[in-house]
Amino acid sequence: MGQHVRVAVIGSGFGGLGAAVRLRREGITDFVVLERAGSVGGAWRDNSYPGCACDVPSHLYSFSFAPNPDWPRTFSGQRHIRAYLEHVADTFGLRPHLRFHHEVLLMRWDNDALRWEIETTGGTTLTADVVVSASGPLSDPKVPEIPGLAEFPGKVFHSARWDHGYDLRGKRVAVVGTGASAIQIVPAIQPEVSRLTLFQRTAPWVLPRADRAITAAERRLHRALPVTAALRRQLLWSVRELQVQAFTKRPKELGLVETLAKANIARSVKDPALRARLTPSYRIGCKRILLSSSYYPALARPNVQVVDGGLAEVRGSTLVGADGTEVEADAIVFGTGFHVTDMPIAERVIGADGITLAEVWKGGVTSLRGATAAGFPNWMTIVGPNTGLGNSSMVLMIESHLNYLADYLRQLDGLGGRDAGRGRVALVPRAAAVRGWNERVQRRMERTVWNTGGCTSWYLDESGHNTTLWPGTTAEFRRATREVNLAEYEVIRAAGSARGTEREKEAVQ
Ligand SMILES: Cc1cc2nc3c(=O)[nH]c(=O)nc-3n(C[C@H](O)[C@H](O)[C@H](O)COP(=O)(O)OP(=O)(O)OC[C@H]3O[C@@H](n4cnc5c(N)ncnc54)[C@H](O)[C@@H]3O)c2cc1C
Repeated sequence: MGQHVRVAVIGSGFGGLGAAVRLRREGITDFVVLERAGSVGGAWRDNSYPGCACDVPSHLYSFSFAPNPDWPRTFSGQRHIRAYLEHVADTFGLRPHLRFHHEVLLMRWDNDALRWEIETTGGTTLTADVVVSASGPLSDPKVPEIPGLAEFPGKVFHSARWDHGYDLRGKRVAVVGTGASAIQIVPAIQPEVSRLTLFQRTAPWVLPRADRAITAAERRLHRALPVTAALRRQLLWSVRELQVQAFTKRPKELGLVETLAKANIARSVKDPALRARLTPSYRIGCKRILLSSSYYPALARPNVQVVDGGLAEVRGSTLVGADGTEVEADAIVFGTGFHVTDMPIAERVIGADGITLAEVWKGGVTSLRGATAAGFPNWMTIVGPNTGLGNSSMVLMIESHLNYLADYLRQLDGLGGRDAGRGRVALVPRAAAVRGWNERVQRRMERTVWNTGGCTSWYLDESGHNTTLWPGTTAEFRRATREVNLAEYEVIRAAGSARGTEREKEAVQ
């Protein structure tokens, strides 16, 4: 058996790095960050496609404890966000904790030793009192199964695994999908490819993106007077908090935004037939509202063709759309998103009852406060089920979960986790608490635009349940995760621990 640590963190994106910073701030240094890749950055390391940038302003899409006065643009590009995360790893002394090329293959809860056994590609098995899974809500690319794709003679890649060695210039390129990544890729590559075919299953609503360079004067001001950057962040946050009600309670109010979005289409697309095909038939906000000022102008260019209904089949180098359209292509780029509702890490966690989280979640994904799961002691996920946002920064949600994590560890200590020796006590959420939390979340979901807006989206699982988004403000989520309510947990003590001679479950009311 290899090393034992108090906490094993999985992933080194915003979530994993944030957890590492928080652990150090809590005085905990006995932890490792297990990362399958060779550097930090998560989504911002993996997504390097042309045009990749955040769609929440940079001053809000960053850690509150690591403000960056030097963001170059209001919506900074991937390169700068990745560099920011590298900087966070350096500034907060995280390097000694990072274990690159350590993909977590399996985590198994040991009911006797009350700890996790973790198998990684790094070789030795690791044990940990607590696992913090920050493996990312959007980190495993999804490529649809399309008949004939395997025989396509050209180049194929997913937006999150861009092949920079392949030169798209002068090529006939097909982009499949119209999500957040695809709408950034299309205008970025359209000027250099000979022909671009966009396979559109559903048209997205797209609003203009108010992207601009942040001036040198603004940056100087933010450096000299950090409070100005904080105020800027506060303003960006407040505006988004005020929008939440329309998404969650009064979708009809989004009608005005729909008018703006239609004007955005009309401004760039003069052909009425194309305009009609690019105008969605569902309520704006039902799928993620996308931001781009260059998407529609690119689609109106003569070397671009939009095929309705998605890519149905590949016959040699011929791509066949669902509407029967046939096009020749040299390369296919899949902007088809990620495994979200079927979180891959869930297949790799075996809990107290000897079954995987994926099996438990077969009947529907559930958690307590988006963080912990019944049957999985001392296992916490950062931005797990129902923590996604339609309109604001995921970093806010991550930081809420960091508060929850810090309190979780404090509570464990309080229960004798440290005094009684390593791994002598664990917390596991009560099934009733998990049920109650999910019922409340799903009840609130009923009125939201995501469930009522007349679309199917990646927010919904196969049964139509929205297990992805948070149906409230980020402030509400902050309050809900400020501390661990012990009444929602069972305390498990190991045999021979200071407070019990045999493994016992202790109810804390
Ligand atoms: C292209 C793109 C643009 C986005 N833009 C925005 C935006 O503008 N605003 C916003 O709020 N959100 C945005 N998001 C959402 C984004 O997922 C979150 O904001 C945030 O980056 C999530 O951080 P994370 O650390 O939880 O996950 P990730 O950044 O995905 O990091 C997860 C890490 O875990 C590692 N990992 C996964 N499985 C294993 C394993 N088994 N073993 C070891 N390591 C593992 C991965 O390699 C990765 O490094 C965007 C996402 C994408 C893909």
